[in-house]
Amino acid sequence: MSETLKTGSESLKTGNFITQIIDKDNESGKHAGRVMTRFPPEPNGYLHIGHAKSICLNFGLAQRYQGQCNLRFDDTNPEKESVEYINSIKEDISWLGFDWHEEPKFASDYFDQLYDFAVQLIKLGKAYVCELTPDEMREYRGTLTEPGKNSPYRDRTVEENLQLFTAMKEGKYKDGEVVLRAKIDMASPNINLRDPIIYRVRHVHHHQTGNTWCVYPMYDFTHCLSDALENITHSVCTLEFQDHRPLYDWVLDTLGTAHPQQIEFARLNLNYTVTSKRKLKQLVDDKYVEGWDDPRMSTISGMRRRGYTPASIRNFCERIGVTKSDSVVDVGMLEHAIREDLDANANRAMAVLRPIKVTLTNYPEDKEEILSIANHPKNEAAGKREVPFARTLYIDEADFAEVPPKKWKRLSLNGAVRLRGSYVITCDEVIYDAEGKVAELRCHYDENTLGKNPEGYKPSGVIHWVSAEHAVPAEVRLYDRLFNEEAPDANHESKTFLDFINPESLTVLSNARLEPSLGNVAKGQSFQFEREGYFCRDLTKEDLVFNRTVTLRDSWAKIEAKGK
Ligand code: ATP
Ligand code: MG
Repeated sequence: MSETLKTGSESLKTGNFITQIIDKDNESGKHAGRVMTRFPPEPNGYLHIGHAKSICLNFGLAQRYQGQCNLRFDDTNPEKESVEYINSIKEDISWLGFDWHEEPKFASDYFDQLYDFAVQLIKLGKAYVCELTPDEMREYRGTLTEPGKNSPYRDRTVEENLQLFTAMKEGKYKDGEVVLRAKIDMASPNINLRDPIIYRVRHVHHHQTGNTWCVYPMYDFTHCLSDALENITHSVCTLEFQDHRPLYDWVLDTLGTAHPQQIEFARLNLNYTVTSKRKLKQLVDDKYVEGWDDPRMSTISGMRRRGYTPASIRNFCERIGVTKSDSVVDVGMLEHAIREDLDANANRAMAVLRPIKVTLTNYPEDKEEILSIANHPKNEAAGKREVPFARTLYIDEADFAEVPPKKWKRLSLNGAVRLRGSYVITCDEVIYDAEGKVAELRCHYDENTLGKNPEGYKPSGVIHWVSAEHAVPAEVRLYDRLFNEEAPDANHESKTFLDFINPESLTVLSNARLEPSLGNVAKGQSFQFEREGYFCRDLTKEDLVFNRTVTLRDSWAKIEAKGK
């Protein structure tokens, strides 16, 4: 593992086009050498891996320049927002290892100031109350190729506008009846500048301001002014806001406030993955998954439950870099990041996921040995653990074949195999149940093979095992990708992303047997189950449940090696 995974402050070690802009600003003294960024989630869902990229970037810039990154909830759509989402967002950012220093901020903290700014725009003759219906508004807006038309309400006097805006605030209008619009240019080639709505009427309770307001500011008006009020220097956002930048600049220039620089970067897209809060919410609401933290979800809370570590996510975000052109990242790269971390840091243990019974016919019935087995093959400091050995064992179904295929490296009838950290055994007899399934293997062990090669024959491989009497039962959940289509989000004619849900994304094995040292490990603790993959104890279940984080096989490492 690279050292960087451990340090916790590896984010943004490498420069990018944004650090070049900041370096230049610092040279010219543009913001007096200050760097202040913000991460502005809307609390309308749980954060996902795409947000992690934005978090690592914004908080990483602040760290790199000894500045500060604010957490600001962009809460202008109270109907879709909730305190549950606010709390989950705070938890996820902290868990990722970032600190917003002061209390989190809310755009709703600024509702008074935003209202005053709107009044100021009216007084400048730069905003008006408009009574067009939504349909009329659409018609007047024009298209990409045709200019829009001026609203018949556009030339109201300042006095009339002030009076009507006050009436809006005082609840004299129903939802959607009137709006406040900025007066910019209905013929602008940029549709965002065609007199955008800046305030609308919504008679709804707000999770922060209660019933104080029945008018709420729109995103484009709120965001730039919140940045200005917080003295943000660099307002970093995703590319879809590029066309909104002229409006961001217009509002701040017209009102003469502080003027942060908006900078756009390409959002993270991952194949086989959905990263849209709306779609993730649909998966939860329609019960395709267990909840926002289902280990198959691309949410940060889902990844946490799956066994991802904060360092692995930060390291992934560092590696994918920050650019200005959209691309799709292979989800294998994310899996590579967690595998690399767990390979270095997770202790090894033995777990038999689909047990079959093995009786060692020449091992005394009442005998029991305690074997001492290394916790980590590459790290002596991880120490050793005690693993009991006895006459009746379990091995995995998949590790026995009566008639072995070529190059079989496991157990077969009359074949010999080493039990990891223990003896070599040979299978003498297979016992079947009434349905013809293997019920038991009768084997003998070679007592001279503990830590030694057998004399005169060679075992075909090494397999894992547990002692039947000592093993602890557990449920093991094998997760696979939630979608079996590379671009579940793309346009697929009549199909939606829900049509690509992988029916085999979860396999529950309820009869697993674990070595006893796994019986009382802490929730969230990760292990490599030898020969099976990386697993972590579920964070939410009281019973002993382990989630498979990732398999051992790393297809990404191969792709990377080929590319070099
Ligand atoms: P979604 O599309 O999932 O609803 P959003 O952009 O509406 O996401 P916000 O809460 O507004 O969600 O996002 C907060 C910040 O995270 C924004 O600055 C946004 O640009 C950024 N962000 C969201 N998705 C991604 C992504 N896939 N990659 C990088 N940054 C993202
Ligand atoms: Mg958004």
